[in-house]
Amino acid sequence: MLRKIKGAVFGFAVGDALGVPMEFKSRQERAKVPICDMVGFGTYNQPEGTWSDDTSMTLATMDSLKYGIDYENIMKNFKKWMYEGYFTPYGTAFDIGMATKEAIGRYRNGTPALICGGNGEMDNGNGSLMRILPAALYDFYKGENIENIKNFSSLTHRHIRSIMACMLYTDFIIHILKGKSIENAFENAVKFLFAYYKNEESKELANYNRLIKNLKNLSENEIKSTGYVVDTIEAAFWCLLNTSDYSSCVLKAVNLGGDTDTIAAIAGGAAGLYYGIENIPEKWIKKLAKKDLIDKICCGFAESF
Ligand SMILES: [Mg+2]
Repeated sequence: MLRKIKGAVFGFAVGDALGVPMEFKSRQERAKVPICDMVGFGTYNQPEGTWSDDTSMTLATMDSLKYGIDYENIMKNFKKWMYEGYFTPYGTAFDIGMATKEAIGRYRNGTPALICGGNGEMDNGNGSLMRILPAALYDFYKGENIENIKNFSSLTHRHIRSIMACMLYTDFIIHILKGKSIENAFENAVKFLFAYYKNEESKELANYNRLIKNLKNLSENEIKSTGYVVDTIEAAFWCLLNTSDYSSCVLKAVNLGGDTDTIAAIAGGAAGLYYGIENIPEKWIKKLAKKDLIDKICCGFAESF
């Protein structure tokens, strides 16, 4: 189990770190100079191996979940991250999304954890999807009903569209943990989502229609790699479905341009879990900032099951 967890979390952090220097750069730029290794500096002027908010919030969630599900406590950890630099590579939080920043601000001002997330249609960046992986692992190993994912998402993103993306990714991760292939896990997760919401939220579901229509065979031009939660999950699955090893998957994600770190992290978390930690290039793991902290948090998290 620890090995699986490490595959997922290191796969996630490496994807994040590969994407950080290239965040917001265009796909045209990547077509001219494709990324094929971990590099430093770029967008945030950080040394190579620096991971961002995606990994920080993932670690903050894991650190809290080792004591069971306590949403207030998870928000406390997010607050420590954002204001005090806990769970960061070098003591300062960076690359924080607007909706996340506002939600943590509300928590600091006394709003209960479960209603801190914005629930407007414009609050559908990928900020809850980017930190949902530990909740998926937790639900699988604890045999919890994944309906709690609605709560996990709502801490920062309370709109149904963000919740749907988190439910979909969680169900996908659980199928992978059950030993399904990427293709099969994806098909099952999409079926689950559409069945689950078919009565109450059929209009919202339409935002995910491309997932049932042969996403894998869409051309790269049809894949948008923005920070909008629907674009992000489509791009991450598209990379997972069109590659057959860890490195190709995360590099494909980074070379899409746009929200590179989050898409590579989300795809990389699943790829690391599926292909195993041994399939993640060791040189990339070695370069990760604070890899001992990541390792320690993985161990603490695994021990709680
Ligand atoms: Mg980031």
